[in-house]
Amino acid sequence: MPTLDAFLSRVTVPVERDVPLARYTAARIGGPADLFAAVHSVDELAAVVQAAWEYALPFHILGGGSNVLISDAGVRGLVILNRARAVRFDAEATPPQVWAESGANLGAVARQAAALGLGGLEWAAGIPGTLGGAVVGNAGAHGGEIADHLLLAEILHREGGRQTMRAAELGFAYRSSRLKRDLAGQAVVLATSLRLERRPVEAIRARMDELVAYRRRTQPPGASMGSMFKNPPGDYAGRLIEAAGLKGTRIGDAEISLLHGNFFVNRGQATAADVRALIDLAQRTVAERFGVQLELEIELLGEW
Ligand SMILES: Cc1cc2nc3c(=O)[nH]c(=O)nc-3n(C[C@H](O)[C@H](O)[C@H](O)COP(=O)(O)OP(=O)(O)OC[C@H]3O[C@@H](n4cnc5c(N)ncnc54)[C@H](O)[C@@H]3O)c2cc1C
Repeated sequence: MPTLDAFLSRVTVPVERDVPLARYTAARIGGPADLFAAVHSVDELAAVVQAAWEYALPFHILGGGSNVLISDAGVRGLVILNRARAVRFDAEATPPQVWAESGANLGAVARQAAALGLGGLEWAAGIPGTLGGAVVGNAGAHGGEIADHLLLAEILHREGGRQTMRAAELGFAYRSSRLKRDLAGQAVVLATSLRLERRPVEAIRARMDELVAYRRRTQPPGASMGSMFKNPPGDYAGRLIEAAGLKGTRIGDAEISLLHGNFFVNRGQATAADVRALIDLAQRTVAERFGVQLELEIELLGEW
């Protein structure tokens, strides 16, 4: 295919074929990517994305793979694994802040900030995945979310090139942003600057440890995608699933956790089809019992 050859001769990072994606996801599920490239800096990320746009090659960015369910048939086109992880703190700035490439791990950045006496991101302790994924989905927990801390996002836009955007321009909402709603495939997050707050190291660490301990008590360990559904207004998806009697339900090796009804766990060899069947069952049962349509928080990626 001439277009593919042109793309391959243009990019400088190695591009592999038929790469199984399960190991790059938190749920350990997913078939192969036709083409797969790992990038290690935002310049590499920008160059590969730019070339994919230029040669009309469909692509998806994979951060930590902690908010996606990849189909068993895998992903057509190119998957770009974001390993761009440079992080720089500016403790003297007002407010203190951290600039990080979008492949940096959110929880790790929060921990590094804590060690410098810089708080604000305590809520992020224990949330897996990258800053890029966190911005796209406005990750949050315990009353905090990315939208509250984002000073600037460096975005590569298909039409507009590299741009710097403020939080107000990103249309953040509950587990959503303009990047997710309107700009999927049209814009990628290259880097972020987050606002921090000076606080005693021990106070920050104590709060983070408390939140991680809470997660350990309330969420199942092992391979999962985190919360499967968004909480409907005024209620909790986990409560509805539990009230519908579905906790512990298993299809193949996919199981609705006994600990938390909104967590679907891979007990070993679960396929995407197993998880999808559990999703359908939960949505159908909750709709029939309570008249509530559960909306996916995770994203279905690939060929379904
Ligand atoms: C055990 C567990 C607990 C969790 N707890 C929470 C929680 O408390 N709160 C919460 O909000 N979430 C939670 N999650 C979900 C998940 O961690 C977050 O949604 C996280 O921010 C996703 O980041 P990621 O890098 O893994 O994104 P991925 O899953 O890799 O990608 C998600 C989407 O973002 C896109 N994307 C990723 N990077 C970029 C980029 N640089 N530019 C453009 N698009 C990009 C992808 O293409 C995809 O569409 C949890 C997940 C697990 C497994």
